Amino acid sequence: MKKIGLLGASGSIGSQTLDVIARDSNFKLSYFTVNSSISRAKEIIEEFKPDYCLITSNKRNELGSHYQNTKILGLEDLEGLIKNQEADIVLNAMMGMSGLASSWWVLETGGKLALANKESLVSAGGLLKALEKKHGGLILPVDSEHSAIWQCLEGNNSQGVEKLILTASGGAFRDISRGEMLTKKASDALKHPNWSMGLKITIDSATLMNKGLEVMEAYWLFGIEPERIDVIIHRESLIHSMVQYKDGSVLAQLGISDMRQPIHYALHEKNRRPLDLERLDFNQISSLNFQPLDHEKYPSLSYCYRALEEGGNRPLCLNTINEILVERYLKDQISLRDLFDGLEASFEEEFFEPKSLEDLLLEEERIRRNMK
Ligand code: NDP
Ligand code: MG
Repeated sequence: MKKIGLLGASGSIGSQTLDVIARDSNFKLSYFTVNSSISRAKEIIEEFKPDYCLITSNKRNELGSHYQNTKILGLEDLEGLIKNQEADIVLNAMMGMSGLASSWWVLETGGKLALANKESLVSAGGLLKALEKKHGGLILPVDSEHSAIWQCLEGNNSQGVEKLILTASGGAFRDISRGEMLTKKASDALKHPNWSMGLKITIDSATLMNKGLEVMEAYWLFGIEPERIDVIIHRESLIHSMVQYKDGSVLAQLGISDMRQPIHYALHEKNRRPLDLERLDFNQISSLNFQPLDHEKYPSLSYCYRALEEGGNRPLCLNTINEILVERYLKDQISLRDLFDGLEASFEEEFFEPKSLEDLLLEEERIRRNMK
């Protein structure tokens, strides 16, 4: 029996993880967090009877404490809960930068981190990888592209890799011009053609910032230099990503667009176990399309490559500013042009090399304060 700690249980990935846990008698939910979805927390407690439920916002009192098997905790308990290693694997599906400290604490205690929260690796990749190595922990990719690459690397010598090819659906604006895209509101951006996801990542998909963040994520996960990580638009989202080897052979991982497959693979630590989901039906697939990326239309991707190259606090600044601007775009307070301009301006922030979790969190706080 594997005990799972689930951070961000009320979200899109969180809900799909709960479904994977419910279907598999090898898994037991040890603890979970939500931020403010109190009624969802009640349902999860009733269905899964975990040992702990932790509320990260100040709404903890709304939940009460009258649960027989489940202890209710608050944000101040999060570090202790993670470090006590109540869970065999922690799946981090918190939203954006709020997931950074948790990823840090899991790896600092040598734990296994199933990582959906790409923002933590993007912002602190070098430091998190160093913690993983020093304390003998393990990062298990959950993001579908990285899971695909992980699967394509299995059984092959990583020295033989020529490049990684990340596929991108192209998001909601893939079929319109840059000019038209810049007039679009968040309600348009939220109409993702292939995936149903949380709000922030759906906006990031429309701006292709998500793919840029994934390039950074791939660099840290697999140690392949940015110039050997390509992105291609693949509108069907059936090929989740590919690895091209030095002999010219390309391995691709295919499947339906359902995050439960990569979640299941990560929680089983890349063991192939039965999973009863819909299967790809090749009789129904008439074509697989590919299209080069328009870098002028989507400047966010170039900013991500640049941030990775410059290193230091650049990725954290870019990522934090993106998060703030996406929130404003979602409230119709800014346009997409303002968002792209704001991302470019992130390179004007003073450069330094963060060395600790405190450095990272203080820098995030500083940026949020300055942008008020
Ligand atoms: P959602 O917005 O659906 O869910 C986010 C979760 O984080 C919720 O449980 C939410 O709680 C919680 N949360 C929100 N704010 C805070 C906070 N300040 N502190 C702690 N917890 C908070 O997001 P997704 O599930 O879509 O995405 C989660 C992560 O997974 C992201 O990093 C995303 O990039 C990544 N990812 C998502 C994919 C997808 O298909 N959705 C695919 C690949 C990666 P509450 O409900 O109470 O607000
Ligand atoms: Mg992805």
